[in-house]
Amino acid sequence: MSEIHATAGILPAIPDDLSIPQFQLDHDDPNRPARHTNIPCLIDDASGRKVYFEELRERTQGFANALSSLYSIAEDDVVLLFSRNHVDYPVAMWAVHRLGGVISPANPDFGRKELEYQLKATKATLIIIHPDALETATSAAQTLGLSLDRILVFDVQGASTGKFVTVDHLVKRGLQLKAFSERKLGPGEGKTKLAFLSFSSGTTGTPKAVAIPHIAVIANVLQLAAHAKLKEDYAPWKDRRYRPGDVATAVLPLYHIYGLVVNLHFLLYCAMTIVIVPKFNFENMLKSIVRHRITHLMIVPPQAVLLCKHPAVKKYDLSGIRYIMIGAAPLSDEVNMKLFSLFPDAHIGQGYGMTETCTVTSIWSIERKRGLSGGAGRLIPGVIARVVKTDGSLGGYHDIGELVVKAPSNALGYYNNVKATEETFIDGWVRTGDEVKITPDGELWITDRIKEILKVRGFQVAPAELEGTLLNHADVSDACVVGIPDEFSGEVPLAFVVLTVDAAERVKAKPSILQDIRASILKHVADNKVAYKHLAGGVEFVESIPKNPSGKLLRRVLREQAKELRKTP
Ligand code: AMP
Repeated sequence: MSEIHATAGILPAIPDDLSIPQFQLDHDDPNRPARHTNIPCLIDDASGRKVYFEELRERTQGFANALSSLYSIAEDDVVLLFSRNHVDYPVAMWAVHRLGGVISPANPDFGRKELEYQLKATKATLIIIHPDALETATSAAQTLGLSLDRILVFDVQGASTGKFVTVDHLVKRGLQLKAFSERKLGPGEGKTKLAFLSFSSGTTGTPKAVAIPHIAVIANVLQLAAHAKLKEDYAPWKDRRYRPGDVATAVLPLYHIYGLVVNLHFLLYCAMTIVIVPKFNFENMLKSIVRHRITHLMIVPPQAVLLCKHPAVKKYDLSGIRYIMIGAAPLSDEVNMKLFSLFPDAHIGQGYGMTETCTVTSIWSIERKRGLSGGAGRLIPGVIARVVKTDGSLGGYHDIGELVVKAPSNALGYYNNVKATEETFIDGWVRTGDEVKITPDGELWITDRIKEILKVRGFQVAPAELEGTLLNHADVSDACVVGIPDEFSGEVPLAFVVLTVDAAERVKAKPSILQDIRASILKHVADNKVAYKHLAGGVEFVESIPKNPSGKLLRRVLREQAKELRKTP
């Protein structure tokens, strides 16, 4: 057997001539649960402001008018969203999509250089930011010669937006302006028309823009809906997994594919309400669960650890929680079992996917309330999997090998990067870089990660990116970054560093300066990178970095060495 098909659920035809906002806001889909006018789509966590479907549609219209008339946003223009979660986040995205533009979402905690990297790679011509990101966005725009008029700011109560034009202002102004002309897609065009450039480093190298077409997001929403049998009476109302009117928290960042596609697009499709949280804080999340009667949590493993271990949990009534999905990184059995016992009546399980597959590949089966502990769920409808063994042959059930998937949600490749695309996207299949086995019940088990990336609190960290930063330090001649296990973050980066001849001589003359060099290297990374990329695993000095005869880093050797070094006694 060479291909393993998803076992359950029937996927309806996926519209290939609709843009994402047309699918979400205009399309009459018979499979979609009806949205009652009294159920808000979004609630702003802090202010309690509710946004209903018609308002979401209208704001998108107003913003599209303004972007078209005042900023000339049009076909294939890239707009970079450099923001925390905000109720106008979908408004901004969908307005750009309605004009034929492309959204590239970025982490607003990025430093100037990280933002510049993404601006350059995507050639973005407009940046929409959260007020927190004003300083970074301004300095990056200035460095790259982008006019400051091309920065727009989301309105946040109590936060200064400086001299910049705000999104709310433009929405209101746009509603008085002439209507934009909608970019309609021809038959089949949804398969190639770009919607998002989301960053991922894939199986190797530095972060790359993943080219995600409109159909990929629509497909993943419909695949998830087909798996969840939204319109079928598969269970009594009280046991159904996603019900109109259920309330989910969005503590996951919308700039990451998990938040963007599952937490936002899929749950909106389910006619659920999403509580928009700009920045994750555990105790605030507990308060918000009670305040907004939240029923659904979509989280990453460190947040699951907090639910299991944080003393504040006892102070709040969490009995309204009926669903917890955990994804983006491995979840330990211990945490999994603890969650089961803390929330005995809730649906709890894992989802697995990646940016390159435009999110979910597997999720725990609708037939059972709880996922199998350690299991990453079942392949969702539309997914075909191959398990490629180390000798290159295709494995069957129970065999261990690299997961390679074909799905209607697969991205097109890496934007402007033919070589990386050819390595990962092969004839419609995506190499995941994850080692798995699949059992005959269709369950996927992640056994290891073959690719280089680390997952720190669910965020990707590309060793090659940190190695590049380390090589810019005056005392470093070579470097290799590996992950070491961490109870809370999952793993954290540790750097093996070779000193320059000059630095090594200085250390020989005065050994005590090695500590200063280590501190300076840690600071150098901290000054240039967002917090989760900092070298929390420390710096180790070595004589040389092991390489094979063609000069390729032998990461596995250093990974083993790191495990030994950091072994708890
Ligand atoms: P990203 O593109 O940032 O979503 O990262 C995708 C990668 O995260 C996958 O290729 C896996 O290595 C990892 N990942 C996602 N979900 C899971 C999961 N449930 N269990 C283990 N690893 C996961």
